[in-house]
Amino acid sequence: MSHRYCSASHDGSWISWFLSLPMNEFLCRVPVDYIQDRFNLTGLDAQLGSQLSDALDLVLESEFDTECFQQVETDLDAAAKLYGLIHARYILTARGIDDMCMKYQRGDFGKCPRLYCHSQLMLPVGVSDRFGESHVKLYCARCRDIYQPQAHCAMLDGANFGRSFPHMFFMQLTELLPSPPKEQYTPRIYGFQVHATALMPPERATCSSCSSSSTTTGKALGIRRSKAATKVRPSSGEAIKQRSPMRRFSFTLNQ
Ligand SMILES: [Zn+2]
Repeated sequence: MSHRYCSASHDGSWISWFLSLPMNEFLCRVPVDYIQDRFNLTGLDAQLGSQLSDALDLVLESEFDTECFQQVETDLDAAAKLYGLIHARYILTARGIDDMCMKYQRGDFGKCPRLYCHSQLMLPVGVSDRFGESHVKLYCARCRDIYQPQAHCAMLDGANFGRSFPHMFFMQLTELLPSPPKEQYTPRIYGFQVHATALMPPERATCSSCSSSSTTTGKALGIRRSKAATKVRPSSGEAIKQRSPMRRFSFTLNQ
């Protein structure tokens, strides 16, 4: 039996046991009648092959006992994969969106770490629809970016949710769609806004500075990087690890 499956307690069915595992906190409960409907399993045999029938039996097991069951890890993995694939389909239905909405509003998926998103609630999303390709990410509808989840949920496969889920969610529940952030962080040094070229890697900044120096019309105070970059020579007989010379900046008015 796998260590991943050892520590959780459950109250009867395989689904209850599976959902009680800390790593599965993002998953909602798929109703048994949805799983039993063969129409909802269409095409899953392509991903599970001959394991589909046994995996389905295990997922639908109502008297699952971790103390005495003898399933090997491959059986549990197949059942987890089957549940995940069904889950990805279920959460795109009206019932599934309602179930996930309850978890969303409860804050089960966490809040956006970006300061200017002001603790916007997030939704799980996959960057692939196929199992085994990537772990789950969290999507913030305010800044429209994705983030790594907390460690205990970070190993959950992203295919449990798929790439479409959060976007379908907000298409159905438009009243929950947040407005875009009004604020954006501005890099400053001693209160002065840092020039755009100083925020780029050296090679890009040089090209950008050359091409845009004659056309820049900004009135804001900026900081322009000097071209000087003196090489540091190691002293003889002593190995000195060379490092990049410190970048120098001068305060200038953009013209
Ligand atoms: Zn955000």
